[in-house]
Amino acid sequence: MTARMYYDQDADPQALRGQRVAVLGYGSQGHAHALNLRDSGFDVRVGLPATSGSREAAEAEGLRVLTPAEACAEADVVMILTPDTGQRELYESAIAPSLKPGDMLMFAHGFNIRYGLIQPPDGVDVSMVAPKGPGHLVRRTYVDGQGVPCLFAVHQDATGKARARTLAYARGIGGTRAGVLETTFAEETETDLFGEQAVLCGGVSSLVKAGFETLVDAGYQPELAYFEVMHELKLIVDLMYQGGLSYMRYSVSDTAEYGDYVSGPRVVNETSRQAMKQLLKEIQDGSFAKRWIEENQMGRPNFLEYRDEDRHHPVERVGARLRSRMSWLGAKTAPGMEEIATEAEAEAAGQEAARAGQAAPKTEQEVAQP
Ligand code: NAP
Ligand code: MG
Repeated sequence: MTARMYYDQDADPQALRGQRVAVLGYGSQGHAHALNLRDSGFDVRVGLPATSGSREAAEAEGLRVLTPAEACAEADVVMILTPDTGQRELYESAIAPSLKPGDMLMFAHGFNIRYGLIQPPDGVDVSMVAPKGPGHLVRRTYVDGQGVPCLFAVHQDATGKARARTLAYARGIGGTRAGVLETTFAEETETDLFGEQAVLCGGVSSLVKAGFETLVDAGYQPELAYFEVMHELKLIVDLMYQGGLSYMRYSVSDTAEYGDYVSGPRVVNETSRQAMKQLLKEIQDGSFAKRWIEENQMGRPNFLEYRDEDRHHPVERVGARLRSRMSWLGAKTAPGMEEIATEAEAEAAGQEAARAGQAAPKTEQEVAQP
């Protein structure tokens, strides 16, 4: 079955004509949605707490900034673009009190609806537009006359117009220029969680660490191990992104391609596939969501410990040291990693200075020594 794609001609902006849109949050997605909708001629206001550091940036763009409760009170359409873990609280405190029949509540990720954390009343449309890319791309491509592909879904159609309104919104942020694909809240949430856990974030970072540790434990130089399993990963992924697995394999040597076929399945083997199935099961039956919600309620003790542990992994220090000498990379440092990065940079500079010292021509005095 081929999925149907929807483009500009399938989305009528009139479906949201005269309706007031509140965008809650002004982070990665929030700034992009608010600015794109505004530039597409929609009536937008941004909802941010009085204490938010992003108010200034939104106001500097000429957007009207209100508190979330104020923005919702005057809105017909509310798009929630705040972190998923705080959405339930925000819904209860600022959104629910002013939701009226015929309003539309929107999300960019299905988590809170899929796991029943937010249960909107019957008379309200509930839908999703989820860009398949980070917010800065949603904005940049829009400005360039392009767009980022999106998923859309209707969870509840109270007005009989939920689909048309949702497509109009997707058009407003530029999504229908690139094409949008219909899904359900369940499909979007479950595939998104699975992808980030098994492949994109969890799978890849575990693969990199395991490869790095295997080489270093066997006595190879950590710098070399970093180049092999982390630096080169980008080059390989770029080839896959441009032309699929076949193009990556066409571009690498025949030896690399042969090793790919015979050794890859030994690493990602039947045990790994069983583990993937188990992850998917825990996503589908809600036990992952339950664990993550409880973790947040406890103040994230395990999450913070995992983060701290991996920040001190040798692959991070070696990487920071090597990247500091490759100015063209546009190297970045995650908030909280500044100290490790500064130390690593000092190490790199120190190593260079030491080498320069060794290689420096001997002074006359040194030469005179017997
Ligand atoms: P983000 O960059 O972390 O931004 C969150 C924004 O929400 C910030 O502006 C923050 O304010 C604001 N905020 C926090 N608590 C708030 C509250 N109680 N009331 C109003 N505003 C509040 O978040 P994001 O990554 O854009 O994610 C937003 C949603 O988009 C999530 O559902 C996520 O799953 C989804 N999504 C994200 C991406 C992505 O690439 N990032 C892609 C697809 C979907 P401050 O500015 O003051 O911190
Ligand atoms: Mg995702």
